[in-house]
Amino acid sequence: MTPDPRRQVPRTDTLLADPRLAAAGERLGRGVVKGAVQRVQQRIRDGELAPPDAVGAVLASLPGTASSLRPVLNATGVLVHTNLGRSPLSPAAVEAVAAASGTTDVELDLGTGRRGQRGEAAVAALLDAVPAAEAAIVVNNCASALALVATALGQDRELVLARGELVEIGDGFRIPELLQATGARLREVGTTNRVTLADYRGALGPDTGAVLKVHPSNFVVRGFTRQVEVGELAGALAGTGTPLVADLGSGLLRPHPLLPDEPDLQSALSAGADLVLASGDKLLGGPQAGLVLGRAELVQRLRRHPLYRALRVDKTTLAALEATLRGPLPPVQRMLAADLDGLRARARALAERLVAAGVDAVAVDAEARVGGGGAPEHPLPSAAVSLPPSFAEPLRQGAPPVVGYLEDDRTLLNLRSLLPDADDDLAAAVLAVLPR
Ligand SMILES: *Cc1c(COP(=O)(O)O)cnc(C)c1O
Repeated sequence: MTPDPRRQVPRTDTLLADPRLAAAGERLGRGVVKGAVQRVQQRIRDGELAPPDAVGAVLASLPGTASSLRPVLNATGVLVHTNLGRSPLSPAAVEAVAAASGTTDVELDLGTGRRGQRGEAAVAALLDAVPAAEAAIVVNNCASALALVATALGQDRELVLARGELVEIGDGFRIPELLQATGARLREVGTTNRVTLADYRGALGPDTGAVLKVHPSNFVVRGFTRQVEVGELAGALAGTGTPLVADLGSGLLRPHPLLPDEPDLQSALSAGADLVLASGDKLLGGPQAGLVLGRAELVQRLRRHPLYRALRVDKTTLAALEATLRGPLPPVQRMLAADLDGLRARARALAERLVAAGVDAVAVDAEARVGGGGAPEHPLPSAAVSLPPSFAEPLRQGAPPVVGYLEDDRTLLNLRSLLPDADDDLAAAVLAVLPR
């Protein structure tokens, strides 16, 4: 008669006392290890696992860190994927974050021993990168930057903006609702598809707090359309004292040769915008942050507003932002710049390795996208490894998880959203899900 497996389930205390699990508890927290132990005990009770394998199974199921967030291989071809944490940080930024994570001189001038200006170095790096700006502040994200601007300049006043720019950016985030939540009144001008300078002029008055231009991001209007560019608007506002604020979203600092239609901070300020707003974790390739750059007097007003204190960023964000701006090109920019021949060569090499292991893999051309609302109409040529459709789900649930996509009944792993040093991990992840 076989013994009842339930009687042989190793006790929690015994397992936790195992030196390997005790060490894991020191590193990850005892609660994390205990949770894994309990799940393994259940598997033994269910007859899925033999008692002597308990410690090995617990070790295998432990997360890599005390956080349950896991590194994922982004094979979606979307460079800035909001569901996958947007920009991966550069190694330089990761090092800077680690160094700033402890006790750090974020608000202390070590030379004088006096209080220092928080985030000064990150702001200096921004101003070096965007010389048309006189001053800058960094807040939690671009939505925070909009909220701060709308509160400081538009509360109980009017924000003038084009009807065609009242957009929803994604996941229910509607720019007009955010603006109105601050107590600003929206003065919409023009129609969905067309707006003229005369429309803006007609809306200006004593109640005008600011004129706002919002980059429609992931949305385009085509055909019988007309917009008023920043330069034209700035010309019309000159001398009126009404600030012109441009929310550019994408975070491109300067014109980019591969994204000719994407607005950038330097150009918008040079064209006469008084303030520009952008995200730190889109095309800039840095941490989640909202960047506000422009005229010193306006930036100062925002910095002094009580709401600023509620939106300011943490030391690790400041460290990552500075390192992104001063350090080597961040991953998103390297992915953007990757040439098609190189991507095709990687796809062929990967497909060859997989075919040699018996996988039905083939290298194909594919399209990639910037994502995060950037350059929606601008597909980036790319290459992918094409696999049978049945690979998609096990890859997503693998270790590390690989997120590709289904197209024409094939699983595509698009290589533009991965740096070349990820290719070995990608091949290993595919081989690991092969049915044995
Ligand atoms: C993405 C985007 C935002 C929101 O930025 P977050 O950094 O995610 O808050 C705001 N405005 C525009 C134009 C955008 O593209």
